Amino acid sequence: MSDYTHLLLAIDLSEHSDQVAIKARRIADACNAKLSVIHVIEPISFSYGGDIPLDFTSIQEDIQAQAKTQLAKLGVEYGINKEDQYIMLGRPENEIHGLAEEINANLIVVGSHGRHGLALIFGSTANGVLHGAGCDVLAVRVKS
Ligand code: AMP
Repeated sequence: MSDYTHLLLAIDLSEHSDQVAIKARRIADACNAKLSVIHVIEPISFSYGGDIPLDFTSIQEDIQAQAKTQLAKLGVEYGINKEDQYIMLGRPENEIHGLAEEINANLIVVGSHGRHGLALIFGSTANGVLHGAGCDVLAVRVKS
């Protein structure tokens, strides 16, 4: 366990986030490791007939502002510094992989719900994060 020096907690800001964050905090403490957190916002894209221009900029900005507030709250609760809270735009698994590499995280912590098929074991994002990760991934089984 003490091999872990920097954990990256991936949070979808759902009602299950606390279950995942508690585990990440405990492991970080046990390893005396740094804890960072990421939330990824998927860009809104919508084509309507092709020639009607739709501007989602303000909705996107609202979503980002709300996510920032929620992440700041979570940061206070789980002792994660402001500069270690990341909000990214893109596909969750890609952004999580990219940030983990950038900040030299050696353990990514995600939640897993269990849904159907492979997703019975790992949620689809958790599965995506596991495949292609350059470091260890811990999937925390969340209970509804
Ligand atoms: P899901 O595949 O949606 O069931 O999500 C499983 C886990 O992947 C969540 O508990 C989070 O740890 C992570 N995750 C899903 N969506 C996001 C997101 N938008 N940003 C960061 N992490 C996410």
